[in-house]
Amino acid sequence: MELKFEITRSRTRFLDPFKKFETTELDIESRKDPLSGDSTRVLSFRARPLGPIDHQVYIERSQERPCPFCPENLERMTTRYLPQDLPEGRLSQGGATVFPNAFPYEAMNAVLVLCPEHYLRPSQFSTEILANGLSLAAVAFKRLAKGQTYASVNWNYLMPAGAGLVHPHFQLAAGKSPTRFQANLRTRARAYARAKENGDIASDYILAERQAGARWLGRLGPASWLTPFAPRAIYDVMALIPCDKGLLDLKPGQIEKLAQGISRVLAFFESEGVGYFNFTLHTQLKSGAGLPCMLRLVSRVDIPPMGVDEINYFEKLHDEMITFLPPEELAQRLRPHWAG
Ligand SMILES: [Zn+2]
Repeated sequence: MELKFEITRSRTRFLDPFKKFETTELDIESRKDPLSGDSTRVLSFRARPLGPIDHQVYIERSQERPCPFCPENLERMTTRYLPQDLPEGRLSQGGATVFPNAFPYEAMNAVLVLCPEHYLRPSQFSTEILANGLSLAAVAFKRLAKGQTYASVNWNYLMPAGAGLVHPHFQLAAGKSPTRFQANLRTRARAYARAKENGDIASDYILAERQAGARWLGRLGPASWLTPFAPRAIYDVMALIPCDKGLLDLKPGQIEKLAQGISRVLAFFESEGVGYFNFTLHTQLKSGAGLPCMLRLVSRVDIPPMGVDEINYFEKLHDEMITFLPPEELAQRLRPHWAG
């Protein structure tokens, strides 16, 4: 079994009314990612810049009622754990707080309010805030997800990305079974290990991408950062931690490095006009469970000038993605921000 970065190209032609009906040729690339198995089409279509982010409408709407995650309301308006599950009721650390999700969808399902601030722009999420949040997530999994195997730290940033509240918060989920994406990743990792005498798919993917270079950003602490060969969004940035490691294996200094990478990507997102995003850190809670540790940050933008949602039937109903920003170009744009 080899890591194959597969690209199938096809060319389409039509008569273009904006070029006096001259023949126009456009290339379509279909890519299959050897790590995730994702299929993505990369189009040669050029989009306009997104323009500056503007969250005013969501901030104003959020001020119409009390915010349960703001410090003056949190104690009174958020859930608590049963005394036998967590005697102190909620977990707190460095301005972040964890409590049960009132709308649960997984065996262990918690909300982690990241900071006292009601609203932060993407570039305002400092390494300190993110490291504190990730480290508290690890504490929450250790104390509240005993017996669970597969977990994720998730983040919907603002309403167009699925958030219910403006106030920055992660959602922690852990269960005995992986989600579909995680199960697929685990299956691929296990098949690779069988075929390659205990080969580690994440290590080999990192090695191949570091050598290829076009999508490579760099290594920062435990994680290698790159843009995925077959992206799941127009903007998709990935961090991989190889060798059977998970969030619970990271030391404080390593969590800080991971947070530093996230902070850099968020500052880049803001500079590009990416005002909405989803974030997931996939992690196993037990070593040997077979799930590579993967972090993804994906855009949820509206495409100008009409404000077209970047998600459409293709992704929702065909399980394939379309992007017009090649990951190689994304990596190139991100690199100056990466260097700092
Ligand atoms: Zn708030």
